[in-house]
Amino acid sequence: NNTFEVVIVGGGSAGCAIAASLKKRAPALKIAIIEPAAQHYYQPAWTLVGAGEFDVNKTVRPMAQAIPDGVTWLQSAVTAFNPADKTVSTATLGDIQYEQLVVAAGLKLNWEGIKGLSETLGQHGVTSNYRVDLAPYTWKLVQELQSGVAIFTQPGMPIKCAGAPQKALYLSCAEWLGKGRLGKIKASFYTSTPALFGVKEYVEPLMQYIRRYQVDLNLNSTLVEVDGQSKTAWFNVKDVDGNISRISKTFDLLHVVPPQTALDFIKQSPLANADGWVEVDQHSLQHVKYPEIFSVGDCTSTPNAKTAAAARKQVVIAAENLLAQRQGQALPSHYDGYGSCPLTVEKGKIILAEFGYGGKIVPTFPWDSTKPRRSAWLLKKYVLPWLYWNLMLKGREWLARCGACG
Ligand code: FAD
Repeated sequence: NNTFEVVIVGGGSAGCAIAASLKKRAPALKIAIIEPAAQHYYQPAWTLVGAGEFDVNKTVRPMAQAIPDGVTWLQSAVTAFNPADKTVSTATLGDIQYEQLVVAAGLKLNWEGIKGLSETLGQHGVTSNYRVDLAPYTWKLVQELQSGVAIFTQPGMPIKCAGAPQKALYLSCAEWLGKGRLGKIKASFYTSTPALFGVKEYVEPLMQYIRRYQVDLNLNSTLVEVDGQSKTAWFNVKDVDGNISRISKTFDLLHVVPPQTALDFIKQSPLANADGWVEVDQHSLQHVKYPEIFSVGDCTSTPNAKTAAAARKQVVIAAENLLAQRQGQALPSHYDGYGSCPLTVEKGKIILAEFGYGGKIVPTFPWDSTKPRRSAWLLKKYVLPWLYWNLMLKGREWLARCGACG
């Protein structure tokens, strides 16, 4: 039977977590997750994989294990939303009927948005921690590089985990510094953004590391083309007047973070705003046009940092609101825009950036969150992965009531 009380599109961090939250609160609810992938990933650890600090195999589990007990997994891709009929169309299973819908399909990594990149990724020193199979290649390249030019790039916003491009830079530099190679390796950071980080309080603490590692920092600079054979990268650089010029740089190692957009099937649907994101109220996470539709995670229009930490907070809000709506009650819960970004500035230390809407700092712990700390490193490397699999994906929500997850 293709009819469910709640249908969830996407079985990633947000989709599996909200399924678990709903099941905990309403065990009899008939829920389906529509998800094509056979594997579920804990993406926040890929940065550590790229630095030789985490086993890549521990970031992957079979999807069947991530989907909560009692929830039906429909293994197919959603191709279209038909909100007037309360159905979604799928690639292989026909139309699925819902009473309420949660969209949690993540975002699109647009590798094709950089000319020449797809052909050369994984070879010629070109890598990215944004692909599970390439994060180990990053670590291989970092270990092998004895001298030369290492370039790290960041595309325009929004991207998931806006700190991740810098994390790759700092952890690589930390390795080279520790091995006494940093004098012979010149690291550069090219970011499309006009500032090193979006929340101003964290910029100076991060600049200290830019200076420590003698990084050549280039703002307003967007990677547009790569040629692996000749080890050349091209950038569009915007000056103060907004004029754009093209420069080229040769490299020995290139770590790329791809441009990121809304997924095509969402962009083309009636659920999307002008930029293609699922258009929800930023506090209730309810769709602005279709009240029986909610959305969580990276695919939403909400202006928070797109992180697993944000998803963890959002799923509780959306679950409470969705269930209240079933009872005909007013929506009780409000999301404050919480997101967190554990910035791995050196091996063994993290600046745990935590902020809400408008860049307001909302620290979990009662100390200066702009300081690099060993405790935050231990949290990210050991505690958070365990909490993810055993609490967040199981609907054990006391964790979501505190902050500090990423
Ligand atoms: P995802 O977890 O990406 O899941 C989306 C799911 O939707 C996928 O399973 C996909 O297969 C499915 N899907 C796609 N299309 C369809 C379709 N047509 N039909 C049905 N299903 C579909 N976050 C932090 O909090 N802290 C960090 O330190 C951190 N570091 C990161 C480092 C890296 C390198 C990366 C890549 C991410 C990092 N993140 C971090 C971000 C975090 O992983 C994401 O924000 C989080 O996974 C978002 O959850 P989601 O469910 O929205 O998307």
